[in-house]
Amino acid sequence: MLEPKHIQTLKEIVGEENVYSDKAHLIAYSYDATRTRFEPDAVVFPRHEEDVSRILVYCNHHGIVITPRGAGSGFTGGALPTAGGITLAMEKHMNKILEIDMENMVAVVQPGVVNMELQKAAEAVGLFYPPDPASEEYSTLGGNVSENAGGMRAAKYGITKDYVMALRAVRPNGDIIRAGKRTIKDVAGYNIAGVLIASEGTLAVTTEITLKLIPKPKFTKAYMGVFPSVDDAMNAVFKSLSAGANPVAMEFMDSLVVHALKEKLGIELPEDAGALLIGDVDGNVAEEVAFQLEILERSFRENGAQDFTIAHNAQERDTLWVARRNASPSITIFGSKKLNEDISVPRSMLPIALKKIYEIGDRYDFKVPCFGHAGDGNIHVNVMVDGSDAKQLELGEQAIEEIFEMVVELGGTLSGEHGIGTSKAPFMSIAFNPAELALFGAIKEAFDPNNILNPGKMGLPH
Ligand SMILES: Cc1cc2nc3c(=O)[nH]c(=O)nc-3n(C[C@H](O)[C@H](O)[C@H](O)COP(=O)(O)OP(=O)(O)OC[C@H]3O[C@@H](n4cnc5c(N)ncnc54)[C@H](O)[C@@H]3O)c2cc1C
Repeated sequence: MLEPKHIQTLKEIVGEENVYSDKAHLIAYSYDATRTRFEPDAVVFPRHEEDVSRILVYCNHHGIVITPRGAGSGFTGGALPTAGGITLAMEKHMNKILEIDMENMVAVVQPGVVNMELQKAAEAVGLFYPPDPASEEYSTLGGNVSENAGGMRAAKYGITKDYVMALRAVRPNGDIIRAGKRTIKDVAGYNIAGVLIASEGTLAVTTEITLKLIPKPKFTKAYMGVFPSVDDAMNAVFKSLSAGANPVAMEFMDSLVVHALKEKLGIELPEDAGALLIGDVDGNVAEEVAFQLEILERSFRENGAQDFTIAHNAQERDTLWVARRNASPSITIFGSKKLNEDISVPRSMLPIALKKIYEIGDRYDFKVPCFGHAGDGNIHVNVMVDGSDAKQLELGEQAIEEIFEMVVELGGTLSGEHGIGTSKAPFMSIAFNPAELALFGAIKEAFDPNNILNPGKMGLPH
């Protein structure tokens, strides 16, 4: 519980109208997409970087915990104020696109800008910001940087880190730091922006982001490959890519997901599909697009595809993407609670990883529908359990642990895009050895010696 004198000082810093400790605000800021709840003691809306700095100095001095927050769409609890204190919410004031520099193809934004707003602003001037998390209509660029968000276009265009050129951020002691430059090349000093990306609000509060933009490709077409089995589809993923295919997206849905989409939402998909790969190809001339589709079709068929279709108009393309976007909500037909993980493996390991995931699910007698960004090796694995049954929840967690162990053995990682937060913190020692975990702790200590920024996240020492 924050003492009234602290609330009063915070009001003096940012203005009365930007500090709330009423129940309605505390509840509204107690959630993220994990649907777990922790109420902060106060919600504070900084107006600018100077406010952030002053708030941090004050809180650091008084040991008041701070949880930075974008849109609260994170899947791993990063924006949950698990230790109380204040939630520092960026969406109200620090939400401006400051500049689109056409000559250098760069955007400068505040952290509370919603991803889609930047995509639209870039497209309005013929440029392109590719990272497109499925939460693009509400997640913020500050949250995207802090989680290193991926998206559907990562197979060709990469993820958030590939577009961050520079950051401004505030350390807990109030120091304003600049990391990176508006240059393509910059090798002077440590790569501090690289350290801050994916740091989940545990090291510093991001106050400004400089992002690379690229020219917008002129043509896009969608495709779908229908496979008799998951194994065939997973082989087709890495074999088609190593054969020269360069699709924007290569998204996977297994037969459980296809079944759920048909049953729950009535979406028309091939009846006998063991697995689907859908995605887009793009290019600046129609021939480039046709060439990409040709490689994909040849390679898919060589790897067992029973059908390969191309969407010839916007409506056909929409149908494919509606199916993919609804994969997650549809699978609740298999259980009231999904234990959702987003493992990532080297692409050549996808066939073996998926085989083992289903084996683990069978052993525990859980349905494990899988879908995701196969083109970049990132799969959403959903262990479906009855959320009201404590035993099932416990067994589900055990199954997840086995999946993580297997994934790490295959050279993969606990999370391709959702981060660690609180939900994956207990598994960090599967992926990192004590020396590596100690180094994470030392980095945290260097930025935040009093542990006021998002304590207890990412499995960092308390
Ligand atoms: C339906 C749905 C689909 C999704 N699809 C994808 C997807 O395709 N790809 C993907 O990668 N993710 C996806 N996500 C997860 C989520 O949207 C991303 O992790 C996103 O980047 C979080 O952004 P946010 O603004 O909601 O951040 P929040 O959830 O508010 O915060 C996330 C983390 O960032 C920190 N943070 C926020 N702002 C700052 C700041 N200014 N300074 C320092 N730290 C900060 C927070 O403390 C927290 O640790 C999805 C989520 C949902 C609900």
